[in-house]
Amino acid sequence: MTTTEATTGVTAGRLSLAAPQPLLIGGEEVRAARTFPAVDPSTGRVWAQVAEGTAGDVDRAVAAARSAFDTWRRTSLDTRQALLWAVAERLTQDAGRWPALLATENGRAIREGGLIDVPTAAEIFRFFSGVVRDLHGRTVPCGPGAHVSTTPRPLGVVAAIIPWNSPLISVAHKLAPALAAGNTVVVKPSELASVSTVEFVRLVQDLFPPGVVNVVTGFGPEAGHALVSHPDVAKVSFTGGTETGRRILGGVSERLVPALMELGGKGAMVVCPDADLDTVTEDVLTGVFAANGEVCFASSRLMVHRDRHEELLERVVARAESIVVGDALDPATQLGPLVTAGHRDLVAARVRAALSEGAGLRAGGHVPEMPGELAGGSYYRPTVLASPDGTTSASCEEFFGPVLTVESWTSEEEVVERANRVAFGLANGVWSTDLAQAYRLADRLDSGMVWINTWFATPLGQPQGGVKASGFGREGATSTLLEYTSTKVVHASLDTARPPMWT
Ligand code: NAD
Repeated sequence: MTTTEATTGVTAGRLSLAAPQPLLIGGEEVRAARTFPAVDPSTGRVWAQVAEGTAGDVDRAVAAARSAFDTWRRTSLDTRQALLWAVAERLTQDAGRWPALLATENGRAIREGGLIDVPTAAEIFRFFSGVVRDLHGRTVPCGPGAHVSTTPRPLGVVAAIIPWNSPLISVAHKLAPALAAGNTVVVKPSELASVSTVEFVRLVQDLFPPGVVNVVTGFGPEAGHALVSHPDVAKVSFTGGTETGRRILGGVSERLVPALMELGGKGAMVVCPDADLDTVTEDVLTGVFAANGEVCFASSRLMVHRDRHEELLERVVARAESIVVGDALDPATQLGPLVTAGHRDLVAARVRAALSEGAGLRAGGHVPEMPGELAGGSYYRPTVLASPDGTTSASCEEFFGPVLTVESWTSEEEVVERANRVAFGLANGVWSTDLAQAYRLADRLDSGMVWINTWFATPLGQPQGGVKASGFGREGATSTLLEYTSTKVVHASLDTARPPMWT
């Protein structure tokens, strides 16, 4: 064991829930016939039992949401505004218990829950509480003989399918705009991180009429599939992997239901020769090692101009080697265990594949030895691979783990072509003190977002989402409300004159 791995092996106050988690349907807590275990990635131990929702449970949840829709869609905007604000207040008042719950659930370091997840989720509700007052149609100028107006109309029951990596933020990104626009929702969280969604909805569901918000936990191919293929679901809002997104879209295309798809990513950080390497180094560490690298926006590909390539590579390697890997519940931990042993093994296999294709191992690349109860956890050292010409699979595959590939480039043409060669198009970044060059590159990089001299900046109001295999639709912005509405037109004729077609 090195000094950068946790030394105690025991954390006081480890969570263990005695009662099985319920389904939340129509404002009631419903016991499922079967449960499945939730495993703490820090130790590999079971800490909760989660309800295994069936197609029948999904049916009941959709029916509850469908019947609540008729009332909820007619609530005034000021009522919705007040309720969304109240959700944020409740979460903020309850903030103390969330970091431990989130860290136990998916292994992200406990410091992140309090710093990032809880305030961000609350802020999402506050944002949509504000912008919902701006949910209005318009009149369309069609001459003196007509009055034409549009109205945004809610769609009905929204199926919200979310992943395990930031469940509180993901559920907020789905619920807040869908409810603000007048829809009702059935949420299906990931089977790997279900408890926080159930606890969050339990915390706030009494604010809403029964059936407005429902949660069915369970497995993707059963509960998830039943939900997205339910005939009474009017919109599928999905965040998760690209392959799952494709599968779901195949199904919903049969029913012609609209979908919002927030999928995987493979972000490139493009570093120009004049970049400030102190800032870049901090941004790289945050970009790829925050949240264990299990983030769709992860900057898992660092593309450095050849004049600064060795210098930056050395800096990043030195810093990666000093990262403290440990128990997600330990406040000193900088990088926790990956979500499951299976996912850790997949990340390790991808690293081995890249090495066999010619990448060089510069840091990490192994499972650390951990003490005591942590020996059962799914840890992986932060890893840096050198692949100057970007020809290995590490330059195009999403790792969804703490793995950075460092490449080198010589011309703008070359770096743009290589960065855009990947299937994904979620987020890229450019570091340069030459603004003309930075904007030129930002314009040419093929992704829904490009950051200049920063990474991970996602203030509310700034649309988030991708292009290509990273999906479509935008979250976190005023325009997101329109993702959850359809436009209805009323065209009124103001005169009786008609063209002489029938005379
Ligand atoms: P996943 O695709 O395995 O699962 C996501 C959700 O889909 C889970 O709730 C799962 O139960 C459900 N699901 C699986 N099969 C289904 C089916 N046939 N029908 C309906 N639902 C089904 O993804 P994951 O491993 O939970 O999350 C990691 C992925 O999510 C990464 O690729 C990451 O990039 C992506 N992600 C994207 C964003 C974004 O905003 N673009 C944000 C977070 C995560």
